[in-house]
Amino acid sequence: MTSPIAEKLLPLLKIHFGYDNFKPNQLAVITDVMAKKDVLAIMPTGGGKSLCYQLTALALEGTAIVISPLIALMKDQVDVLKANGIAAAYYNSSQSQETQEAIFKQLEQGQLKLFYVAPESLGFLDTVLEKITVSIFAVDEAHCISSWGHDFRPAYTRLGSLKRKFPEIPIIALTATADKTTQEDIVSQLSISNAEQHLASFNRPNLFLDVKPAQDRINRILDFLDDRPNESGIIYCLSRKSTESIADKLNTAGYKAQAYHAGMSPDERNKAQEGFITDNIPIVVATIAFGMGIDKSNVRWVIHYNLPKNIEGYYQEIGRGGRDGLPAHALLFYSFADVAQLRRFISSSDNATVEYAKLERMQQFAEALSCRRIALLNYFGEHATKSCGNCDICKYPPAYFDGTMLAQKICSAVARVRESEPMGMIIDVLRGAQNAQVLEKGYQSVKTYGAVKDVSWQDLQQYVIQLLNQGVLSVNFKEGARLGLTPLAKEVLFDGKDLKFATIKKVVAAPKTAAKKKAAKTGLFEKLRALRHRIATEEGVPAYIIFGDASLKDMEQKLPKDKSEFMTISGVGNTKLERYADVFLEEIAEYTSVKKSKSNTHIKSYSLFKSGISIKEIAEQRDLTENTIHSHLLKAAFEGKNIDLHQFLTGEELDSLADAKEELPGTEGLKVFFEYFEEQMPYWKIKIGLYLLDE
Ligand code: ADP
Ligand code: MG
Repeated sequence: MTSPIAEKLLPLLKIHFGYDNFKPNQLAVITDVMAKKDVLAIMPTGGGKSLCYQLTALALEGTAIVISPLIALMKDQVDVLKANGIAAAYYNSSQSQETQEAIFKQLEQGQLKLFYVAPESLGFLDTVLEKITVSIFAVDEAHCISSWGHDFRPAYTRLGSLKRKFPEIPIIALTATADKTTQEDIVSQLSISNAEQHLASFNRPNLFLDVKPAQDRINRILDFLDDRPNESGIIYCLSRKSTESIADKLNTAGYKAQAYHAGMSPDERNKAQEGFITDNIPIVVATIAFGMGIDKSNVRWVIHYNLPKNIEGYYQEIGRGGRDGLPAHALLFYSFADVAQLRRFISSSDNATVEYAKLERMQQFAEALSCRRIALLNYFGEHATKSCGNCDICKYPPAYFDGTMLAQKICSAVARVRESEPMGMIIDVLRGAQNAQVLEKGYQSVKTYGAVKDVSWQDLQQYVIQLLNQGVLSVNFKEGARLGLTPLAKEVLFDGKDLKFATIKKVVAAPKTAAKKKAAKTGLFEKLRALRHRIATEEGVPAYIIFGDASLKDMEQKLPKDKSEFMTISGVGNTKLERYADVFLEEIAEYTSVKKSKSNTHIKSYSLFKSGISIKEIAEQRDLTENTIHSHLLKAAFEGKNIDLHQFLTGEELDSLADAKEELPGTEGLKVFFEYFEEQMPYWKIKIGLYLLDE
């Protein structure tokens, strides 16, 4: 069922942006704005918010004024629009006066469909805005207006007067921040109390959610990268120092990586960001300072080297992966040490109680033994119950075993050291460690000393964490992170309460086949990527502005042969068709012909021969031996092609071959004949001659 408005908008969507369908909620949002309603649109990162106001702008008379918080963000969007042949410009204080004047002129003359401006600069525009036809006001990253949001920008509060000054013009506010307080604040600050609210699902089904224990992180990351040559990704770390040391390690291992943190100069940061966006540096190792304003669509993975301090932050960070809708991998390393460190940070915060609670939920997510996506969506208030099939737990569900005995041993050790020791010591005691701390305290005489010798240190640590998670043990963070017993532990110890543990999975690196790696480097996708990179460098724009990975994948799959087939590729609208169809079609044609020619190489030789070129010349031209060309011709004849093979041998030669055949009855293979003629008759002649004699 398509509505009349959809019928009008779908062709615009294809012509301008090259897409065939709307993403969830886009049509509903656009329909409301076109009906002159104010709208608050809440969609996850990568949900396609920009398109909501961009397509509306194209469908309506006049110019859309887009308020956006960052220069980088504006520039990027304007580049994308221009690449699609849409008249757009941005205005900010860093531009030269001439540029500013030129843009103002375009604006006044109504030449622009979209005009991007930072909230700080909006004041200059008042008089201009009154003179021109404004289609809509779009407030992107609208949570910046709220001091409850996580990116408060005081200048955004100036937007409060827009509705008063331009009551007739619809305002569309967009954000990915889902919490209720921030939403209410946006509506009230913008004075759009009647706004239609559209809350899209926060599900990002293309993100694979994966959590691994933090041991040996760096080698695991190297293995992970090894399987993903050339892919772009972000590694988030807690400290500035670790961003640098990890980037160093990756560089030493031969990967191109760049650190990014707030302690670097603005220049250095811009350079790192630019390198990442243009695909020149595929990997950024960053603190959470990195990411806002990065619209790069082909981030294929996001790794959390450390545990994030809450689920909101985690979700926003992994949301930077896979904006193009193609599979992306979100890998979180979980360590108890990180939890302890984050707790220390929080202890000095004014809002500690809430932050502890949020950290605890983050931790529960990391330790989940059931579908992670269900846990996430429920956190954001979506009542999901169906397992997603695209997280580590769904893919490799844990096995459980009866852990009552093991739990009793662990609890007993905690009890016998009088609940005064942290996790490390408990594990040492259980494993019968002989280190100085254990011996000094005389723990070798504790009854449970050495009771769990057969379990490795790391595995035992995982089991203790499971007990924490199941509420059997607790951590006293204020007193040296000692482990204590909960009422549940007493049931385990004294009432024989049953307990189940999830079996600890051994992480086995997937076998890497040489073929897989090679394919990744020589496939059509890689060729198209390289072409895209060349064009992007020439035009001075990020590669994904030319085409996203999704478009290249679509080309690889459909192998378009002409412009009309090229038009069916996702992301190809009119402008991109005009600009890029020829070069990309050429690259695809070359690739397919090389592939074909490998299987049809004898036909190529045959055609050349038929066009009157001598065997010797064909061999030179094709960089093959004459022997091979003769074999090609023989094969062609064998397949029924019209070719007189008698021209290659004299009658005498054929007779002597016939004699040889009689003298060497039952001989298979050519070598015997070759030797019979004392190596004077070339192989190809023998082959053709025998074929003719058999006819
Ligand atoms: P957001 O601002 O919500 O994080 P963007 O507006 O940056 O998301 O869009 C994310 C990606 O989705 C972009 O690469 C965009 O081109 C793409 N996109 C938007 N709408 C569609 C659509 N209808 N079909 C396919 N891709 C789309
Ligand atoms: Mg956006």
